[in-house]
Amino acid sequence: SHTIRVGIAGYGNLGRGALAALARCPDMRPAGVFTRRDPASLRLPDPSVPVFSLDEAAARRDDIDVMILCGGSKDDLPAQGPALAGWFTTVDSYDTHARIPQYFEAVDAASRAGGNLSIIAVGWDPGLFSINRLMGEAILPAGATYTFWGKGLSQGHSDAIRRVPGVRAGVQYTIPVPEAVARVRAGEQPALTTREKHKRECYVVLEPGADAGQVEQAIVAMPDYFADYDTTVHFIDEAALARDHAGMPHGGFVIRSGRTEASENQVMEFSLKLDSNPAFTSSVLVAYARAAWRMKSAGETGARTVFDVAPGLLSPRSPEALRQALL
Ligand code: NDP
Repeated sequence: SHTIRVGIAGYGNLGRGALAALARCPDMRPAGVFTRRDPASLRLPDPSVPVFSLDEAAARRDDIDVMILCGGSKDDLPAQGPALAGWFTTVDSYDTHARIPQYFEAVDAASRAGGNLSIIAVGWDPGLFSINRLMGEAILPAGATYTFWGKGLSQGHSDAIRRVPGVRAGVQYTIPVPEAVARVRAGEQPALTTREKHKRECYVVLEPGADAGQVEQAIVAMPDYFADYDTTVHFIDEAALARDHAGMPHGGFVIRSGRTEASENQVMEFSLKLDSNPAFTSSVLVAYARAAWRMKSAGETGARTVFDVAPGLLSPRSPEALRQALL
């Protein structure tokens, strides 16, 4: 049977993770990494994987069955998603929730015009969490859905504290409030404010001479990012930051709490505890790349989301084998 030839567009955390995930999938192989930087400047763990300029991508379309788009959601994917969907069957992890409808339309038009298939917003949130929110609502229409994130490193909030004057370096963790989680798991269906659901913890290295009190005040009062949360700021030195905060852990849970009879609580929960957010997200992308190739091979075109992909298509096993082993 055909080995699925996978291209990787963009070589950051997800690009590296996608290469590593492909090495665990014998039915797929990496057929090229595409970058905006000088291809010779990238050092891949497997030097036999060719690196190309992203400008050359269209010329390589016959060598690639599926392109995994590993660019950033903010600045890269809004342009790269529609452009590459014109040439390739694609999967991406676009995660700007509020803009997903517009992004879907742009990718859908491009992929239809090119006769390709694109699965957008794949990963864990959006992605696996979205599927679980949908399942909870569909199965328990009388109820409430809760999404808790963390404990996890938030890139956006870490960037925000690094922009505060006097901060040399720092990271931010989002942490679910245990009391809120316990009430939800108990079936109470509480109405929870932003502050009641999550707290934020910052680990900050100060610039020499910076005033710790002023920096702390600037962080905890920052609108949009911290003002609506209980935020704790810890000051540490550079060695502790490198030793204890170099990883990118994340995770969380989606809980649907519903009732059938008035006295019957039904609680559904899906949970993730991830040592590495990008390694996990790119593993999800690789499984959906397999599905994208199968859907395209069956003649489908246009944009899709995780809601439109049958679970069996994600597995390398045949439908017969899946019925026997996993039902
Ligand atoms: P990175 O910042 O590591 O990489 C983004 C792009 O930046 C790369 O494609 C690469 O493009 C370029 N780049 C990477 N490293 C360098 C460097 N050293 N110098 C210059 N350019 C560089 O982002 P991530 O891979 O961590 O994440 C990508 C996106 O994935 C995020 O924006 C987020 O939206 C999304 N995501 C989605 C999740 C979900 O659950 N749906 C979960 C986690 C992330 P090039 O090679 O072309 O230069």
